[in-house]
Amino acid sequence: MENNNYSILLYYCYAQIEDPEAYREEHHLFCVENNIRGRIIISPEGLNGTVSGLKEDCERYMAYIHGDPRFAKTEFKIESHNKHAFAKIHVRVKPEIVHSSLRHIDPNVRTGKHLEPEEFKALKDQEDVVILDVRSNYEHELGRFKNAITLDIENFRDFPDKVKELEHLKNKKVLTYCTGGIKCEKASAFLLEQGFSNVYQLHGGIIKYGLEAGGEDFEGKCYVFDNRIAVDVNKVNPVVISTCHVCGTTCDRMVNCANPSCNAHLAICEKCGWELEGACSTECKEHPEKRPYDGTGYYQKNTNGYNPYKGLFRRQDKEKIKTTIHGQKDSRVGTDHQS
Ligand SMILES: [Zn+2]
Ligand SMILES: [Zn+2]
Repeated sequence: MENNNYSILLYYCYAQIEDPEAYREEHHLFCVENNIRGRIIISPEGLNGTVSGLKEDCERYMAYIHGDPRFAKTEFKIESHNKHAFAKIHVRVKPEIVHSSLRHIDPNVRTGKHLEPEEFKALKDQEDVVILDVRSNYEHELGRFKNAITLDIENFRDFPDKVKELEHLKNKKVLTYCTGGIKCEKASAFLLEQGFSNVYQLHGGIIKYGLEAGGEDFEGKCYVFDNRIAVDVNKVNPVVISTCHVCGTTCDRMVNCANPSCNAHLAICEKCGWELEGACSTECKEHPEKRPYDGTGYYQKNTNGYNPYKGLFRRQDKEKIKTTIHGQKDSRVGTDHQS
């Protein structure tokens, strides 16, 4: 039996943060002290994170966020897991919580109408409705809603440019979706700004739809930004839509190319994986720095000497850190911390 005593939390909150640097410090410390790992972005416009930890540690973490009046309305998507989904904790300050080139948009002022998973399910097959996937190629190639419109983009920041191609949908009901709902906050607002009249967004994204509505009509797997890489969401009518990058057989086994300078995220079948030793092409297979293939296609970054306190207390409290990290010297105290 699997022992799922860990949780994976996915969340975001658009809320003004006056001093992101100071808050980063505090937030990072809380994570370290409660053994929370993952990636968190803090910006003047809010918070965005995917983290993992023991269930009780995640409960404390959620209480910590909800306890701050700025983030009281934060919604968490909670999934169970049997271990940490991250090797490290990174808490970073960035200009936006999702790199979007839509910094002028504040979803707290205007955004598409939120649809709960069951509402989305009821609406999505109606005649005047189009479903719009706002995610990137490597994501929608692995899985997407049946009949969804997808965009040829490598990164969400290219979304605004592609909207020109959607002119003909201006008078339709447009239902946007993404992984956890965060991209839709700005994507749907942008569509409204461009003159689309009926814009809706799947609240909580594919992940919440899988948890609360069984994932019906989501075809393939959902790409996620933690060590799991891809997860199943459809418990009702699942199908596989992706194919092996090498031989073309139906396959949803996501790997990273073993050539570190390529590192492409691709579906590669078991057989081709072994034949190419984890590489996506013979060229990558011959690359001098190709990493050894263990059959998973996942390459853990070297965590030797990893210090989760790295980057903390760079402004003050240097004494405190010396005692907290038990004499372990952090040469970066007082210097830039971006890791
Ligand atoms: Zn293959
Ligand atoms: Zn490659």
